[in-house]
Amino acid sequence: MRKVTPVKIGNLVLDGKHIYVQSMLNVISTDIEGNVEQAKRLRAAGCEILRVSIPDENALRLIPAIKNEVDIPLVADIHFDYRLAIRSAEMGIDKIRINPGNIGSEDRVRAVADECRKRHIPIRIGVNSGSLEKEILEKYKSPTAEALCESGLKEIKALEDCGFEDIVISLKSSDVKRMIEAYRLISERTSHPLHLGVTEAGTYKMGLIKSAIGIGSLLSDGIGETVRVSLTDDPVKEVEAGYDVLRALGMTGGVKIVSCPTCGRTKIDLIGLANKVENACKGINKDITVAVMGCVVNGPGEAREADIGLAGGDGCAVIFKKDKILGKVSEDEALGVLMKEIEKL
Ligand code: SF4
Repeated sequence: MRKVTPVKIGNLVLDGKHIYVQSMLNVISTDIEGNVEQAKRLRAAGCEILRVSIPDENALRLIPAIKNEVDIPLVADIHFDYRLAIRSAEMGIDKIRINPGNIGSEDRVRAVADECRKRHIPIRIGVNSGSLEKEILEKYKSPTAEALCESGLKEIKALEDCGFEDIVISLKSSDVKRMIEAYRLISERTSHPLHLGVTEAGTYKMGLIKSAIGIGSLLSDGIGETVRVSLTDDPVKEVEAGYDVLRALGMTGGVKIVSCPTCGRTKIDLIGLANKVENACKGINKDITVAVMGCVVNGPGEAREADIGLAGGDGCAVIFKKDKILGKVSEDEALGVLMKEIEKL
């Protein structure tokens, strides 16, 4: 397991013991009410760290407005204007995301670091393949994994030279393999917590696939303390997708659904039923595996690892708990009976 130097963000600690799911508000920054409303929806969906763009002085009003209504750490996304980072710190932000490379001179980086140190506010260095420093791009010719890593290490050093240590780092690329390689490289060279993400991952389906591969590969290697599944979609879906990636790796609690792909033996609407079971299980906070299988011949056997489940018959289904068959029900009753049994667990 990689050694991580803990970093505190509001009331959370990034130390590798828990993987935090993040998202970012996408309502225009002039719409305070809209941002607060979206922040509340994200909080309700389980978002644990929330980022907001602060593109100008006016947007600073979002910080108290959101913080008064939503009790999760808020991160200010700052580009170019170091004064906005300082003002965000003064207004109670929990973390600043900057790319020192586009903040400007050493003096400006130092001014941000001094203000954040005074207030115990961590800084995330957000290196992106699209915004690498000119000299690094010239050296590597393109935003390779080594280039991203070198940029990250250089930015870490810039903050450390200012005596600043509360650093989180991300090295995002829209190229999944490059992103994986970059994080692997930097994970061996720094103990600062890593925020994982595939940038500009795309619309829902491909974005989810790319993020699951990129973030999932790293998490399964023990790399990464916080994640964002970046999607061109409603950010609530980013949060749900973040948990789905963690669930697929067995890194978070909640119900895990196992369902078969169906085949010529399937005689019930298993696809519909599996989707209904998944929806019905969404809010359930139990660490269980539920199997939804298409046939009685192979179903319970294939789902032996599950805690509870159903297997379809001809217009009916059997409900089973581990190896034990509890009873036979009609297709229409199956969902209700299964959910009642899940309640009892
Ligand atoms: S569980 Fe039964 S219905 Fe589902 S794929 Fe296997 S054999 Fe086919």
